[in-house]
Amino acid sequence: MGAKEGFIQFKRELPESRTPEERIHDYKEIYKPFDAEKLNHQAARCMDCGIPFCHQGCPLGNIIPEFNDAVYRNEWEEAFHILRSTNNFPEFTGRICPAPCEGSCVLGINKDPVAIELIEKNIAEKAYELGFVKPRIPVKRTGFKVAVIGSGPAGLAAADQLNQAGHEVTLFEKDKKVGGLLRYGIPDFKLEKWVIDRRVSVMEQEGVIFSTGTEVGFNIKAENILRNFDAVVLSTGAQQPRELKIKGANLKGVHFAMEFLGKQNQVIGGEIAKNPISATGKHVIVIGGGDTGSDCIGTSNRHGAASITQLELLPKPPKQRTELNPWPEWPMTLKTSSSHEEGAERFFSILTKEFVGNEKGEVTGLVLVDIVWKEKGGRMQFEEVPGTTRTLPCDLAFIAIGYAGPAQNGLLEAFGVQTMENTLPKSKEYQSTNKKVFLAGDMRRGQSLVVWAISEGREAAVKVDEYLMGSSALPRKDEGYYEVEEEILKD
Ligand SMILES: Cc1cc2nc3c(=O)[nH]c(=O)nc-3n(C[C@H](O)[C@H](O)[C@H](O)COP(=O)(O)OP(=O)(O)OC[C@H]3O[C@@H](n4cnc5c(N)ncnc54)[C@H](O)[C@@H]3O)c2cc1C
Ligand code: SF4
Repeated sequence: MGAKEGFIQFKRELPESRTPEERIHDYKEIYKPFDAEKLNHQAARCMDCGIPFCHQGCPLGNIIPEFNDAVYRNEWEEAFHILRSTNNFPEFTGRICPAPCEGSCVLGINKDPVAIELIEKNIAEKAYELGFVKPRIPVKRTGFKVAVIGSGPAGLAAADQLNQAGHEVTLFEKDKKVGGLLRYGIPDFKLEKWVIDRRVSVMEQEGVIFSTGTEVGFNIKAENILRNFDAVVLSTGAQQPRELKIKGANLKGVHFAMEFLGKQNQVIGGEIAKNPISATGKHVIVIGGGDTGSDCIGTSNRHGAASITQLELLPKPPKQRTELNPWPEWPMTLKTSSSHEEGAERFFSILTKEFVGNEKGEVTGLVLVDIVWKEKGGRMQFEEVPGTTRTLPCDLAFIAIGYAGPAQNGLLEAFGVQTMENTLPKSKEYQSTNKKVFLAGDMRRGQSLVVWAISEGREAAVKVDEYLMGSSALPRKDEGYYEVEEEILKD
C-alpha cells in the first residue's frame, strides 16, 4: 500500500475536459492530460482493503490495489504487468468503461471512490510511451488453426489469447476495419480510432491474421470455415435493434441509432465517409436514455442540430443511492454524460405514442404523453397522466431502446448452433451445441459492455485451448491471472 492516509489527505480528482463550446466543433477526445503528481495522489487514495471489493466489481477480476500501489511507487512496468495479466486492452476500458469496480470500491461507502479507470488509462498510455507494449511472438506453434468471427472486443480478446497459446488465428471481419462497436458504434470523442489501430498493429506483428471485408456465411461459407479450421469462435455481436412499434415509425427521418452512429466512421477508399444522415439544423429526438442515446446526442451536437431532446420511459433516477440500492451494488443513480453536458433536454417517464409526418412522408413531430409508475401486484406498471398528451417538433429521430440479440441472418444455423427462445445461442461454458464452435461477447450474453466482451473472449479462449490441447495454461479469471502470467513469462 502507498500512502497510509492517502484517502484522508487527497480528494478524488479527474482530468479537466475541454469546454463543451470548444469540443462540439471536433470529434477529438474531450479530456486534457492529467498531471503526474495528481495521478500519484489518486493512486495513494487506495486503502489496499483486506477484502478488495473492487475485484469483484470488475468483470475481468483486475488486480486493482496492486496496480494502484505500483503507480504510487512510480513502478510503471510492474503496474503494466499486473494490469495486462487480466486485461488485454486497458487502453479501451481505461477510456470507456462505466467502471463497475468504482461502484464497488470500499472508499465509495462514505467518500468518492478511487479513480480506478483513470489510473488504468494512464498505466496503458505510459506502457506504450515507455515501450513496454512489445509484440509477444509465441515461441512454439501448436499447428492448430482457429477462426474467430467478428472483431469487436470479444473477438479481439479471444484472438489475442489463442495466438499467445500458440494457435494460428485468423480473425474474420465483415466491415472494412477491425474493432466492431469500438469503431463503428462508440464515437471518436469517447474513443479515438488510432487507439484501436495501435493495438491491431501489435497483434498483427504477433501473428494474428486479419481478414477484413469478409462476411462469414455470405462471402465465405460456414461449411468452408468448419472444414478448414480446427475450432471456431463466433463473436459477431448482438446488433439486431429493438423496434419501436408505434405508428409512423417508418416515416423518412426516423432511424435506428446505429444507422446514424455506424455511418459516422465508415471508411470508403481509405477515407472517413460523410455521414449520409445529417442532423445539421434539425430538431432531433432521441428515444432511449442509455449510452447509445447519449452517443446520438454528442454526435448530433457536433453536426449542429437545432435542438436535441432525449426521452426515457423509466422514471428519473435519484442523484444518490437509495436504501434499495446499497453499496457495493452498481449505483442506479442519474448519470450525466459528457454529451449531456454539451446540450440536450432530457425528459423521463415519457411514453411515445406516434410519429406524425407531412405529405412527402417525412417525419415532422412526435406525439407523447407523461406517465406515472406505480407498483401493482408486486410489479411496477405505468399509467398515462390525463391531459399531458402533446406533440414535439421532430425532423430527425433516433431509436435507441436496446438490442434484441444477434442478427437474424442464418449465421448461427449455418454453424449448427441452436438458439434459445430469446434468440441468444445455447452454450455451456462458452461451447455451443456444435462442439467445434465457441461463443463470446454480446452474441452470447446479449447487449453488454466492452469489459464484459473482453472477459468473454478470454474465457472462451481457455475453453477452445482445452478443446484443442486437452488442457490449457491460459490464465482464467478465478485463478489469479497475475501469477499465471508470471509463470508464462518465466518460460
Ligand atoms: C452506440 C454504442 C455505445 C456504446 N458505448 C459503450 C461504452 O461507452 N462503454 C462500454 O463498455 N460499452 C459500450 N457499448 C457496448 C459495447 O460496445 C459492446 O458491448 C461491445 O462492443 C460488444 O463486443 P462484441 O465483440 O461482443 O461485439 P461487437 O463489438 O458488436 O462486434 C461484433 C463484430 O462482428 C462483426 N460481424 C458480425 N457478423 C459477421 C459476419 N457474419 N462475418 C464477419 N464479421 C461479422 C461485426 O461487424 C462486428 O465488427 C456501446 C454500444 C453501442 C451500440
Ligand atoms: S476497494 Fe477501493 S480502496 Fe479498496 S483496494 Fe479496491 S480500489 Fe483500493
